[in-house]
Amino acid sequence: MLSSEPVIVNAPILSFEIANVGGKRKLQIIGARSEDLSDFNGEVNATGSEYLLVGELNTKNASAVRKHLPWLNPKPLGLKLSAGVGDRLGMATFGQARAFVNFGQGVLPIFAQQSAREMHRMGRTPQDVMDDATFGLVESSWRGLIGSDADHLKNIEDINSCIAAGFTMFTLDPGDSVALVPIDFDGNLDHLPWGELEDTEVSMIGRYKEKEFLLDHASLFLTDAEIRRAVFKYGAAVASVVCLYRHLIKNAKHEVEVEVAIDETHEVTTLGEHIFIATELKRLGVKWVSFAPRYIDGFEKGTEFKGNIDDLAVNLKGHFAIAQSLGPYKLSIHTGSDKFGIYSLANQLCNGVFHLKTSGTSYLEALSICAQFAPEIFRDIYQISHHSYAQSRSSYQVSANINDAPLAKNLGNSDLKELLFIEDSRQILHVGYGDVLTLRDESGNYALRNALQLCLIEHKEDYDKALELHIGRHLSLLSKSA
Ligand SMILES: [Zn+2]
Repeated sequence: MLSSEPVIVNAPILSFEIANVGGKRKLQIIGARSEDLSDFNGEVNATGSEYLLVGELNTKNASAVRKHLPWLNPKPLGLKLSAGVGDRLGMATFGQARAFVNFGQGVLPIFAQQSAREMHRMGRTPQDVMDDATFGLVESSWRGLIGSDADHLKNIEDINSCIAAGFTMFTLDPGDSVALVPIDFDGNLDHLPWGELEDTEVSMIGRYKEKEFLLDHASLFLTDAEIRRAVFKYGAAVASVVCLYRHLIKNAKHEVEVEVAIDETHEVTTLGEHIFIATELKRLGVKWVSFAPRYIDGFEKGTEFKGNIDDLAVNLKGHFAIAQSLGPYKLSIHTGSDKFGIYSLANQLCNGVFHLKTSGTSYLEALSICAQFAPEIFRDIYQISHHSYAQSRSSYQVSANINDAPLAKNLGNSDLKELLFIEDSRQILHVGYGDVLTLRDESGNYALRNALQLCLIEHKEDYDKALELHIGRHLSLLSKSA
């Protein structure tokens, strides 16, 4: 008999499991009659009085699973406290789901979440991301509400493929249209897309000039120079969000929600700039549930928050007051993993109206399993990450110094895991994923990705446990203060 609980959806009663069949993960379903299994693709055999289907983890089966277990279709989460956990290898959902069940009471989960950049780089489609999460949730007998996040979308093609895959939250990223203000900026705004902004310079400036913006117990005035800089910097970005948003709303046939994210831009988003962006998006009819500004410095990949915690409190308080007064919408914190010192604070300051986004940290947990059980593969992974760091660091906030990171050749197998606890090597491994997971052998196969996945299948229980505890450590801090 299969171990997962049988679930009743109208009839037929089917029982689902993800099983390891000869080293490969497969979908197994038991039903009373063979015709009950007709929505699924696979081999059906009689086992006593029942029928057992063994099928591949493919899109047809994922879609049939979501039809029979409708709660596995993601939904918009609105303003509720939520956390997103990415899964680059498509094998983390089970352990992550355990973390939500055991440590994340009151925190709504987003399992299917990957940025368009990462998907393209890894050769993964939005449908792959969605389906891998579905199968992981089947495996964990998941029963609650879930969201999904098509992260950092910058163009209409990516929006289309994420709509088709059934994503429900669309994180729109106009970062490429954010302008750097030149040192000798003369205030000229002629080049902005005034047609798309459906406005004139005079009328836009007038909305902010000599106006008092009330924020909680404080108020904010923008100087003329600050207003012009905000318009220069974010005018085209506002137009870009409006264009992406209108396309999304026109084309999505299911219920969707939007996050606006400018966390990957070069300069910190000032409170005045946040007011400008939100005011203009509202004027142009955009509705969004969360906003990720670029907060003060200190959000680096895979480490504790490295900035000043008092400054962060002031920063979050200001942004949250704006989000309340111009929304309400949630504040979203990206690059959110491993910052155990800030979760309670952020959650308290935002009164639970808050979204935490993590992704790479689940990959690092996979590497810790690899270091333990397949040290030679881990050595290759580290070497490639180390070698590519000068290049790979350019798209991320990291401060690891390649010269301070230990060399794997100086470490015995039993010490390799230490590389995940030393900040320099941890960040090098964190941002090295792209080169590691896309490395091909002579036959064109993903050599290290496959080896790593095989190691995780062989040591599944250890990987699941590690994820449950690590993601759980994040969630318990959010949950306690919820
Ligand atoms: Zn981000």
